[in-house]
Amino acid sequence: MAAKKESRFFDAKENMALSKRQGYYNQSLAKMVRLGYQKSPTVKRIFDERNLKPSDIKSVKDLEKLPVISREQLVKLEMENPPYAGLCAKDMETDRIFTSPGPVYEPHLTEKDPIWGRGYYAAGFRKGDIVLNAFSYHMVAAGLTFHSGLRRVGATVIPSGASTTENQIQLIRDLGATGYTGTPSFLMGIIKKAEEMGYNFKDKFKVRRASFVAEPLQPSLRERFEKEYAIDTYQMYGATEVGDIAYECSQKNGWHICEEVIVEIVDPSTGKQLGPGELGEVVVTRLNPIFFLLRFGTGDLSKFVKDRCPCGRTSFRMMGISGRVGEATKVRGMFIAPSQLKLVSSRFGDLRLQAVVDRLEFKDYLTLKVEAGPEDRARLEREFEKVFKEICTVKIDKLELIDKGTLTDKDSLILDRRTWK
Ligand SMILES: [Zn+2]
Repeated sequence: MAAKKESRFFDAKENMALSKRQGYYNQSLAKMVRLGYQKSPTVKRIFDERNLKPSDIKSVKDLEKLPVISREQLVKLEMENPPYAGLCAKDMETDRIFTSPGPVYEPHLTEKDPIWGRGYYAAGFRKGDIVLNAFSYHMVAAGLTFHSGLRRVGATVIPSGASTTENQIQLIRDLGATGYTGTPSFLMGIIKKAEEMGYNFKDKFKVRRASFVAEPLQPSLRERFEKEYAIDTYQMYGATEVGDIAYECSQKNGWHICEEVIVEIVDPSTGKQLGPGELGEVVVTRLNPIFFLLRFGTGDLSKFVKDRCPCGRTSFRMMGISGRVGEATKVRGMFIAPSQLKLVSSRFGDLRLQAVVDRLEFKDYLTLKVEAGPEDRARLEREFEKVFKEICTVKIDKLELIDKGTLTDKDSLILDRRTWK
């Protein structure tokens, strides 16, 4: 009998026809809104204050009619109305309650929720894998929800949580762990310690796959994991208030948005939705029938990817995280973030640079100061503006090449000289 061919996807939702996708989102949202209005006093209050009825939210675009709720606002709402700010149904059944700093209390969805399963599946974890889960299981959502995700794809989990580095090494060695989930810096810490203890990590241990979350994965670190230690690396993204949001596939270029969440990229000052390629705040609504947190503002900056992914998933994609809302500066209506400038700089051998924003005759004027030696000048003049536009979307008004050593560590990457008097 021929073996059943393994699906490329976690489930059929991931490659649903694009024509169906919008309808799927709109209908799921309308359903959650109807239920939330009926069951949650806070949702009802938010709607009533704006003279809105549940039938006014028929599509993702209609979400703009509702306010974005930041983490700070959620903490305040929960303090005024503990424990869940009236965002839950009174009669809900929940199997566990997590906390996170604030404090924020989060009722956890049932075991049936596929939380984190999509990310681990796309990262290639399967039955037969033995995965070290180095996230804390104590009070916070991390340990147990990642554990659930790994079980969803059939992997065996070692719940090592907050054990010491030495303990983690012992577990990897004795149990023959094939995978790791946790932060990238902690995995590198484990590797370094194992090397200090005299082990050749690549040859002696079996860890060949890692899924990272909760910390950015620097490209240089990724390269080390993959080239020096033969560990295939993947990233996932989420927030404790809303669960998993997005994950990388084998293309490692952009993150697929989970089928259980609606992601909007919005202008943080207006809450209005932005188009593909425009940098804005990641705002998330998790489609579910118990916790009616509509439009949670993560404070993270990202943008949508326009193109479809060659992996075959039809889900919308976002392009990593470019920093936090407070760090970004708006130039001619578009945000630029320090992390984007660092990326531009890395394309030109990490030359120091600074973006200076002025306002000339009621218009924003963007100057890019770039430190350049004589050997850099020709290439900068030829390519810099194009690369900058590609990464930051905004066009430079003036490229100013300055001598090396002019900028110091004290100079910020973005200097905003505009006055608004
Ligand atoms: Zn993909």
